[in-house]
Amino acid sequence: MKLSKKLLSLGLAFLISAPTYVNSYPATKQDMTIEFIDVGAGDAIYIETPSGDDILIDAGTAGNGKKVVDYLKRQEKSMDLEYVISTHPDADHVGGLKYVFQNMKVKKFYYPKDASYSTKTAKEVIDLAKKESGCKIYDAESSTKFSSGGAKLEFVHSSKNYSSDNEDSVMTYIDYGNLEVLLTGDAENGSESAAKKYNVDILQMPHHGSAGSSSSSFIKKFDPEKIIISTDGKKYGHPSATALNRYKNYDKNIDVYRTDRNGNIKISATGKKWWINTNKYSSQKITSTKPGSNSTSSGSSSSTKYVYANGGSSSSNKYHKSATAHGMKGAIKMS
Ligand SMILES: [Zn+2]
Repeated sequence: MKLSKKLLSLGLAFLISAPTYVNSYPATKQDMTIEFIDVGAGDAIYIETPSGDDILIDAGTAGNGKKVVDYLKRQEKSMDLEYVISTHPDADHVGGLKYVFQNMKVKKFYYPKDASYSTKTAKEVIDLAKKESGCKIYDAESSTKFSSGGAKLEFVHSSKNYSSDNEDSVMTYIDYGNLEVLLTGDAENGSESAAKKYNVDILQMPHHGSAGSSSSSFIKKFDPEKIIISTDGKKYGHPSATALNRYKNYDKNIDVYRTDRNGNIKISATGKKWWINTNKYSSQKITSTKPGSNSTSSGSSSSTKYVYANGGSSSSNKYHKSATAHGMKGAIKMS
């Protein structure tokens, strides 16, 4: 992109958005937050449940551990982590957990025991978990469920032992009131197709947007309205335009949030409402059309979307993009 064009688009982005936090819905008091902390090329996701349990999923590379811990302590000075989940042993996920264990109290630690935690860093993290006083260690087996303050969490990845650590990534489904979210680690096609199915509102694009993930059938299976990508926008060409186009081809109205452009991305929920704030600017539509171009436009769209409400014959209490979602019959179409 030419510099003048880049400056223009940056300028536009600031014109249409507030300088600090941008709300896609009017803010009210939330009960639960799910926050993607910007750790460049890596993942670090912090969840505060309605009853105040603090959950951390991954912590970026070793170099990001301090950033993550400092961030958490700014939320609550003496925060303990009720749950720490390590999705898989790759350095961009497990590396920062070393600093987390050294600087915070962890009560429960989940990791996939079928993945090989054999690198020096991964081994150190497991050792620290074992030494952490009072910390219980669990295999993050698929179908494990726990709930906290009305929010339900479930690991939905396949129980198969893959030869690739990425495929053994823990995938976490979160359900709170009218919000459903799927977090995916670095899952790729095999594990995606084996994962338990849910229709979700928000999907973390697996493996930082890699083309080896986000198959068309996976997108259809989880039917997201919004996707979030944890990426620096550079390493390994993530996110891939090919993969982004699969979402666009499925539904051109899917909003995209990505940590390299939006900074920290926070989902807030009350059980009845949910919204997304970012500390840069608002969501983008997928506008890339050919592989090799991953440009997206800034600002949120105001185009009319049609949604479908339950016609009274299913237990669904939400609006859906499809008239037959969740087995609805006689759905009511509305804009
Ligand atoms: Zn990764």
